[in-house]
Amino acid sequence: MSTPAIDTHCPYCALQCGMGLRPSEGGVEVVEWADFPVNRGALCGKGRTAPEVLSSRVRLTGPLIRSRTTGRLEPAGWEEALDRVAERLVRARAGHGPDAVGVFGGGGLTNEKAYALGKFARVVLRTSQIDYNGRFCMSSAAAAHQRAFGLDRGLPFPLEDIPRTGCVILVGSNPAETMPPALRYFTRLRENGGKLIVVDPRRTRTAEQADLHLQPRPGTDLALALGLLHLVVADGLLDEGFIAGRTTGWENARSAAISHWPELVERITGVPVPQLREAVAMFCGAPDSMVLTARGPEQQSKGTDTVSAWINLCLATGRAGRPLSGYGCLTGQGNGQGGREHGQKADQLPGYRKLDDPAARAHVAGVWGVDADDLPAPGRSAYELLDALGGDVKALLLMGSNPVVSAPRAAHITERIASLDFLAVCDVVLSETAAMADVVLPVTQWAEETGTTTNLEGRVLLRRKAIDPPPGVRSDLEVLHGLAARLGWEKGFPTDPEEVFDELRRASAGGPADYSGITYERITAEDGVFWPCPDASAGAGAGAHPGTPRLFLDRFATPDGRARFIPVLHRPSAEEPDADYPLYLTTGRVLAQYQSGAQTRRVPELNATAPGPYVQLHPRLADLLGIADGEPVAVTSRRGRAVAPALISRAIRADTVFMPFHWAGEGRANTLTNPALDPTSRMPEFKVCAVRVEAAGHSPE
Ligand code: SF4
Repeated sequence: MSTPAIDTHCPYCALQCGMGLRPSEGGVEVVEWADFPVNRGALCGKGRTAPEVLSSRVRLTGPLIRSRTTGRLEPAGWEEALDRVAERLVRARAGHGPDAVGVFGGGGLTNEKAYALGKFARVVLRTSQIDYNGRFCMSSAAAAHQRAFGLDRGLPFPLEDIPRTGCVILVGSNPAETMPPALRYFTRLRENGGKLIVVDPRRTRTAEQADLHLQPRPGTDLALALGLLHLVVADGLLDEGFIAGRTTGWENARSAAISHWPELVERITGVPVPQLREAVAMFCGAPDSMVLTARGPEQQSKGTDTVSAWINLCLATGRAGRPLSGYGCLTGQGNGQGGREHGQKADQLPGYRKLDDPAARAHVAGVWGVDADDLPAPGRSAYELLDALGGDVKALLLMGSNPVVSAPRAAHITERIASLDFLAVCDVVLSETAAMADVVLPVTQWAEETGTTTNLEGRVLLRRKAIDPPPGVRSDLEVLHGLAARLGWEKGFPTDPEEVFDELRRASAGGPADYSGITYERITAEDGVFWPCPDASAGAGAGAHPGTPRLFLDRFATPDGRARFIPVLHRPSAEEPDADYPLYLTTGRVLAQYQSGAQTRRVPELNATAPGPYVQLHPRLADLLGIADGEPVAVTSRRGRAVAPALISRAIRADTVFMPFHWAGEGRANTLTNPALDPTSRMPEFKVCAVRVEAAGHSPE
């Protein structure tokens, strides 16, 4: 009889597909977890092959310290490595103050790790300089959510509602490639008679399946949403009762929208007026409808306003605060949702509390056993923190991130990292960033440890340990425990994930993202629990709180219970094409690679499918530039030059080129991207910059 499989979750994207892992010779094999409701056993190639990284020959299995004599990373023992990190963090702090030590986390860390990392920064290091790579992914949608609804949860409803609504506008999202099992929700929507509208400058595999594909210029989705709202007003399609009863601020939002008449919007976006009308007819013609955004509208220097414009469309038509309708964000990273709730973000404390809120500081300081006055103030956002490295930030502890590949203006950020006095990196392989470190600490992977993640629905899930890690590898929690002990905190940093989660529950109690009623046992019994889930067990006659699959049905999370219209106007991207850089560049992901590729580029099957970067360009543009399919193409922006083979395709606008961002080296897309930040979310403008394109044999300058 074979050993029973252990139910767990994929290490990659925010869908957090359920999978079974069964110990096998030399590792684990993936088996179906057919009952898990989110993916019903389906996995994409990334998830199916994830165990290969566990036993990859390039896996790190012992600490590395950079030799002072050879300059190379050389094997070391754990005690020596942790001593070195602690000593260098103390030295930076002693010489330059607590903010000379930075901490950089990741949206793939479990809730327990994100919580412990935030606590370590604030309590042990007392630094304000902590942020994480989730700032690059979802923060504009989070900020727009907060502004409109008073609460940020990616989807305010379960995925299972999507097939039952009447129309979905999917803005800047390509689930057919980024999270394929999620596509079945949209397929079922259409089988049920619902309509799918996709907004994307590229005709992606998702757009191919849509009833209507709107193909705007990069960076013009805000104008597009305003144009649709204009038509809603002009055609008398407003839900006046909803606006009067459940919202505030409509008049200003209305004024902003009516100044964007359809012909103007066509000129800005390139989307013909008849298509705008068709979209409004589909969206308003259905009894229920949704708008879902992803990185397209969010990774812009006006991302928060862009998402607000789409939320305004939902509010004006009464598509919010009721079943089967609403606005949602399809979160990207594996724990993109939970990672932004529990304290690794510069302005945040656990439970989605704000670091500048005296009551929040007092509550969390009480759980941590410290004086609230000793907690630092909010620090810099991710790009600003990376940009400050080697300046007033002298030493960095980095966990679960690879900014040499994933940060915008990556060549500059690589220089900043190189200028640090000291860099320590926790990773599973020698990523491009780890290769620059002074100390590399090899840590456990998803299947070798237990911990919770929160998927794009706000469903808290339990990843279970299925296999022992290789000897010589420790968990991130063990690393933080070891460092804290060396820095004078013998207690307060347990290595048992459930013990950390129990403390997280207490720290989150009463906060916007309240996990206090969630336990590992409940997650197991209920296939995940949706937050907020207060601990109701103490109340008189109370049973367990059921969790909250659907938010805002009775009231929004604002002080007056009403959703807020935010008046927004179109504005150009930070960098528009001009005579020197006449084309748009937009970036994104491909089916067989994930984020910076640190893990997926180590899987032969995935590399065979997606072996390297490319430059997608329209045949008309290729003709104009004299570029043949497969020929090396140089793409130049004001920040640098990247070279990759041409992929000539009618699926992209003729004024735009696309590059996937998973690779380092000369094809690194983020060499080109613009770090212009959204003023509210501080999210960089990955999706739009101006470039010049030529055959790579031509002179670069
Ligand atoms: S869709 Fe996402 S969570 Fe599911 S298997 Fe693929 S990468 Fe993993």
